[in-house]
Amino acid sequence: MGLVSEAMRAAVSNRCPHCRKAQFFPRYLEPPSACEACSADFTEHQAGDGAVFIVMLILCFVTVGSVVALELVFSPPAWAHGLAALAVSLGLALPMLPLVKRFMVAQSFLNDAGA
Ligand SMILES: [Zn+2]
Repeated sequence: MGLVSEAMRAAVSNRCPHCRKAQFFPRYLEPPSACEACSADFTEHQAGDGAVFIVMLILCFVTVGSVVALELVFSPPAWAHGLAALAVSLGLALPMLPLVKRFMVAQSFLNDAGA
């Protein structure tokens, strides 16, 4: 299995990319320093703000697209646009952030482990 699919599996299942036994991220967005089961070291594989940038990039297109579609179909008042954009942004950002961050940390770990 390729590195990307292995990293995707670790991100979606929230399991350690090395042993797949312990929980990968015990907290929402805070990467662990090491795995509780196999002691795999993740200290060199911290994603920083990379996940935030990627999620923002994706949400810019989705949110603007939904606002334009809403305007073309219903032409609601400005406050309704604001509420809809807020709901779309928060509704997608909150579940996407930990997923993308786990993927980035797992990808970095697996790429380094295979080198
Ligand atoms: Zn592990």
